[in-house]
Amino acid sequence: MLNYFKCDDIPLWQIANGSHLFDIIPYFADLHDPETPKGEKSYVLNIDLHYFSGAALVCLRNYGERCPVCDYVDSLQQEGDCQNLYSLYKFRRRSLYNVVVLDSKSSEKKGIQIMNTLHWFMQRNLIALIRRNLSVTPELSSVSPSVKEVGEYLMRMEAFEKKKVPAPFYDEDKGYSIAFTKSGRGIQTKYTDHRFVKRAAPISKEILSQAFILYKLLCIPDFDEAYNFLYSMKDKR
Ligand SMILES: [Zn+2]
Repeated sequence: MLNYFKCDDIPLWQIANGSHLFDIIPYFADLHDPETPKGEKSYVLNIDLHYFSGAALVCLRNYGERCPVCDYVDSLQQEGDCQNLYSLYKFRRRSLYNVVVLDSKSSEKKGIQIMNTLHWFMQRNLIALIRRNLSVTPELSSVSPSVKEVGEYLMRMEAFEKKKVPAPFYDEDKGYSIAFTKSGRGIQTKYTDHRFVKRAAPISKEILSQAFILYKLLCIPDFDEAYNFLYSMKDKR
């Protein structure tokens, strides 16, 4: 069955309920990164997924390609087939980060883990946090010009460097840690109280060198694989 991670041994951060503190570790994008040009610094991979019962598929439109699931959804929309739309097409945006979890000495010792959350839980809040901090945290006040609307923003180190403004929150030397609280279960899950926290020390070169190029963790189907998968799932319904 197709799923969206390439292998099972990815060090995913299993986020328990409670308060957390972590650093986002930046990395340099490689060819085929859907959001960041090759060689540029990035810190997040936002990816749209199609959810089916027990499986999820990376939407090929993330990569500017034709997606058979989106094609099918478009055809259902044109036909006004809302019932099929609702049951088949559960579309979610997720955000992946390289992180070091600072909750305890043992969590920090694990080194890089992958944070994999709904965009709604973390990335949306980070952007909101930056916007809220504009007036009260001078060193973050210049973040605004490079932040597009939630859903398709991208903060690029280049933009900061060109404008000679302070480094963004994920900068390895001058950035911030991030605190938040997780509560609830299932559809009641909440991520709240997101805050930037001054870092005790810069991120080490050793940790930086361990960061994953995030899109490479994903299983990207070709059109035929996605098409066959879609119709195998449809047949099961
Ligand atoms: Zn799609």
